[in-house]
Amino acid sequence: MTQEYSDGSVFRVSKGGDNRSIVVLVAMMSEAQPIVDALGLKSVGRLHGAYPIEHFASVQRPYVHLVVNGKCPRFGVDNVASQPAAIAAFLCIEKFRPAVLLNAGTAGGFAADESRVGDVYLSYPKVYFHDRRIPIPGFEAFGIGSYPCPDVRTMAQAIGVKTGSVSTGNSLSSIREDLEMIRRHDARAKDMEAAAIAWVAEQHRVPFIGIKAITDLVDTERPVHEAFLGNLHTASERLAEKTVAAIAYVERFGVPPQADEVSH
Ligand code: SAH
Repeated sequence: MTQEYSDGSVFRVSKGGDNRSIVVLVAMMSEAQPIVDALGLKSVGRLHGAYPIEHFASVQRPYVHLVVNGKCPRFGVDNVASQPAAIAAFLCIEKFRPAVLLNAGTAGGFAADESRVGDVYLSYPKVYFHDRRIPIPGFEAFGIGSYPCPDVRTMAQAIGVKTGSVSTGNSLSSIREDLEMIRRHDARAKDMEAAAIAWVAEQHRVPFIGIKAITDLVDTERPVHEAFLGNLHTASERLAEKTVAAIAYVERFGVPPQADEVSH
């Protein structure tokens, strides 16, 4: 089933017909601003009275919603990391019934995998947590999570980005155990939100796709925080370009089907 909009765009409605919006979740305003500008979105206001989570939308594409986690009122910085991301995801699913949740953001990459600053990845085959170490039978796998993503390989080729698993933790810096986990799971991007959102998406059976632009290379000499701040602007521009392309792809071809199984 497809739906045609007045600006000529066509969006394939998912099976069931009810879930038909595209939600883009972003942690930081500096990551979101180029996407807001590129899509001509306007601020709609907060999603919920208790959280500074901001909603952006446009009249042209009423089925696209961009949501930014906002600034922490106590510390005055962007609400990065897992808790705000999970709450924003839940609010969006309840309010917009999305056909897909996209999490657009920046991430650390790895020079050993030939990543460069500005490279963009779509999450595939999975996203997972690298810092929830619970060495008790059963809980270990639960902690890591391993949330499978749709098979976005064709989509990635079409929009000119790479694919790789995204590894999530609540720290910007890394300890040895984090890096070992990332190696073991062959992840290409290290962030602080994707797996938290993917867990919420899984509960509601909403497909999740991470789109991540590399700001820093974790396995090089340059301190991660310094590279992050230095490259945030450029990487966010690339992120916006590819997020717009990802939305256009989903409008045209629908959400790629879920991959069958992933390894834990
Ligand atoms: N000092 C920064 C902190 C932002 S935290 C500031 O306030 O401007 C980093 C954000 O970018 C998170 O949302 C995370 O998802 C992403 N990120 C970029 N590089 C990362 C890395 N190497 N490790 C973890 N997250 C990273």
